[in-house]
Amino acid sequence: MRIGMLGGTFDPVHNGHLRSAVEVREALGLDRLHLVLAPKPPLRDTPQVSATQRLALLKAGIGDTLGLLADDRELQRAGPSYSVDTLAELRQQYGNDVPLAMIIGFDAFLRLAKWDRAAQLFELSHLVVIARPGYYSPWPSALKELVGDREVDSVDILMQRPYGGMLMLELPSLMAISATYIRERLQAGKSVRYLLPEAVEQAIFQQGLYQSGE
Ligand code: ATP
Repeated sequence: MRIGMLGGTFDPVHNGHLRSAVEVREALGLDRLHLVLAPKPPLRDTPQVSATQRLALLKAGIGDTLGLLADDRELQRAGPSYSVDTLAELRQQYGNDVPLAMIIGFDAFLRLAKWDRAAQLFELSHLVVIARPGYYSPWPSALKELVGDREVDSVDILMQRPYGGMLMLELPSLMAISATYIRERLQAGKSVRYLLPEAVEQAIFQQGLYQSGE
């Protein structure tokens, strides 16, 4: 068994998330990849669209994709959504011997040292950082310190242990899609076709989400 966790605001979920999820699952040989919706991420503004609505879009986007799970556990918890708490729950669920990997995009990685109990993440899981077009800056020094000598250069080496390692991955289909760009286009009445799954686009229009006045 190998388990992955990809957290996000998913405001809304798009093909950058979903194609990355499919490819990272394949690259790491994950049995399950939990896409965990953060209702109210601590380090950013509160989303305008409710967590329940974003979760419905996430479910619609995943559809029947093999191995991907829309995970609502952070909606069940009171207070801010901290990844370290989510990883602790996944650890409890799957046990201590199973490799568990937290997956984040390079943009999120650059802010990782500011996360709550950041150092504890490595006691619970591996960290897999995926390249994201437009984000290439050098690592801030706090990040170098946090990662230390945990970086390995292959999936095989990473998966020899259940947690504690770090791997940088460049997935085949890099996609310069962001939720911000999608929200801006929807607000301006412009097309978002092919940036996100058709089922998500349909649900957005049916419910009038992200459009002017939202
Ligand atoms: P926003 O534009 O609102 O900040 P976002 O598109 O970055 O949103 P998030 O929900 O914040 O989406 O991202 C969740 C996770 O997915 C983060 O780790 C982020 O780095 C990663 N991610 C988002 N979009 C992409 C993409 N196009 N390619 C690779 N990773 C991505």
